[in-house]
Amino acid sequence: MGNLNDGVKSRTYDAIVIGSGMSGGWAAKELCEKGLKTLVLERGRDVVHLKDYPTTNMQPWEFEHRGQIPEAIQEANPVVSRCYAFREDAMQFFVKDTEHPYVQDKPFDWIRGYQVGGKSLLWARQTQRWSDFDYEGPARDGFSVDWPIRYKDISPWYSYVEKFAGISGNKDGLDVLPDGEFLPALELSCVENYFKDFIAKNYKDRHVIYARCAHLTEPKQIHLDQGRGQCQNRNLCQRGCPFGGYFAANSTTIPWALKTGNMTLRPFSVVHSIIYDEKKGKASGVRVVDANSKEVIDYYARIIFVNAAAINTNLILLNSKSNRFPNGLGNDSGILGKYFAFHNYRGHISAEYEGFMDSTTAGGRPTSAYIPRFRNVHKQETDFLRGYAAGFYSGRFSFPKAEGFGTTLKDNLAKKDPGPWRVGSHMMGETIPKETNFLSLDSNKKDEWGVPLIKFSVDYDENDNKMVKDFSDQLTEMYTKAGFTNIKTNDSNQAPGLDIHEMGGARMGKDPKTSMLNKWNQMHACENVFVTDGACMTSTSTQNPSLTYMALTARACDYAVNQMKKNEL
Ligand SMILES: Cc1cc2nc3c(=O)[nH]c(=O)nc-3n(C[C@H](O)[C@H](O)[C@H](O)COP(=O)(O)OP(=O)(O)OC[C@H]3O[C@@H](n4cnc5c(N)ncnc54)[C@H](O)[C@@H]3O)c2cc1C
Repeated sequence: MGNLNDGVKSRTYDAIVIGSGMSGGWAAKELCEKGLKTLVLERGRDVVHLKDYPTTNMQPWEFEHRGQIPEAIQEANPVVSRCYAFREDAMQFFVKDTEHPYVQDKPFDWIRGYQVGGKSLLWARQTQRWSDFDYEGPARDGFSVDWPIRYKDISPWYSYVEKFAGISGNKDGLDVLPDGEFLPALELSCVENYFKDFIAKNYKDRHVIYARCAHLTEPKQIHLDQGRGQCQNRNLCQRGCPFGGYFAANSTTIPWALKTGNMTLRPFSVVHSIIYDEKKGKASGVRVVDANSKEVIDYYARIIFVNAAAINTNLILLNSKSNRFPNGLGNDSGILGKYFAFHNYRGHISAEYEGFMDSTTAGGRPTSAYIPRFRNVHKQETDFLRGYAAGFYSGRFSFPKAEGFGTTLKDNLAKKDPGPWRVGSHMMGETIPKETNFLSLDSNKKDEWGVPLIKFSVDYDENDNKMVKDFSDQLTEMYTKAGFTNIKTNDSNQAPGLDIHEMGGARMGKDPKTSMLNKWNQMHACENVFVTDGACMTSTSTQNPSLTYMALTARACDYAVNQMKKNEL
């Protein structure tokens, strides 16, 4: 395969990283820093920090549709249009449904960013650590399989990635949400502070805190060395930040890896599969289809990191078939693609608060408040397993009435009555990985690069439904007690996927019969392949997962390079 005239040597590296987003960026940085000549394969185009953020300094009136997505685009792309961040200012960083179709046995809203930086350009930057209530969860509550690691194994790696990425937060001292290496937190609004104090006084097991987020509130030397500066609270993050105020691979890990001189970044490289060498009993490289020319090229390396984001990682592994692995690379157990899970974001609540009428602004913060999980933490107390966290936000915003003509219209538009404070929360529920929630390859349909389409058979279950109801009940109680009025709850009944926290399919575990990866994210059955994106996750917790992918990636890179030095890999 490939261009046979092009020497194998020139296509051979120490390491290959598949995907250049949140986790792939970390793999690139770590491996390059440790001296490995590393090829980073990215299916999309390059997005160079600063240069490729065309909308970053645009004013609202400079957008043709004032920030909205035109109806024709929405109709043609119903899935991505359901994502709150798919707006005119960031449209260029999202995959449109029409560009990359997939198969939905059951509805799944798959939100993607195919470019250097992946979805790290677009994320909401919420970065909560997981705790032992998460790592011990499956063993304690009897679902999935036992994680092969505990909090103590990953805690130093959380610290490691937090210091480099820059995370703002308070030391809250909560066992359910361990503290990290924080830059100063921003302030909560008066209503958020009121609710925080109220909950602290009235519930001993519930807390409202400042949500930890990947923003440079007070850059340290390491951030200045990255060429990044203080977050300006512009709240235009999804456009790409000219200050590097938030963590994105484009501003942070990718340029850092480039600076080492060890990284070769190859955009427009669609990874088709991983090549398995039967004689060596290892993966020898990666098969790529050039996105533009469609040329098939093989690249070789001693180790391979798979970081294509959970779903595409499952796809690549399922498509990596050989005599040894007819059902996908490393898939002796037959579980590849199975036990796929996500976060349950269906529950919403909103209300009003009559107080603080002398204050009008919640500030332009890039984050809000956070209610860590409080259900079933220390013991099982409900008829569903696990629990949920919730956001908490507030603001006074009512839109001027665009009513009347002439002077009346002008007068109406000029009236500034922000109305009462409005508050709201959304749930972030843990879902239970199950064999019946799985990804597979469609046996007939392929994309234009000859790669089979992925098929989703993923759904909610009774546990999720009960959790939505409990969220509504508990939050209603907390809101009511706090004196909030006009409380409205809503089950969006949205399809899985909009949470954009896809996890599993190639889970970690102790036993090769029931898991794909060991405690170092290394494939049980093909030891020079590492998976450190969401595909590796054994369970889903309630916390946003990307910080954990970053920490697992840095930890696995450290292990892999040490093993290489010992000639064990
Ligand atoms: C609007 C939004 C808000 C979010 N908010 C949060 C949040 O607050 N907190 C949080 O923790 N997470 C959040 N997320 C999720 C977060 O973005 C993802 O968890 C994270 O980006 C996953 O990292 P990754 O490296 O696995 O994937 P990505 O960052 O998506 O990177 C994967 C890369 O692999 C490339 N790729 C895919 N297939 C191939 C292939 N076959 N060949 C070559 N390259 C390939 C892609 O083009 C992409 O560049 C949010 C996401 C979105 C979109």
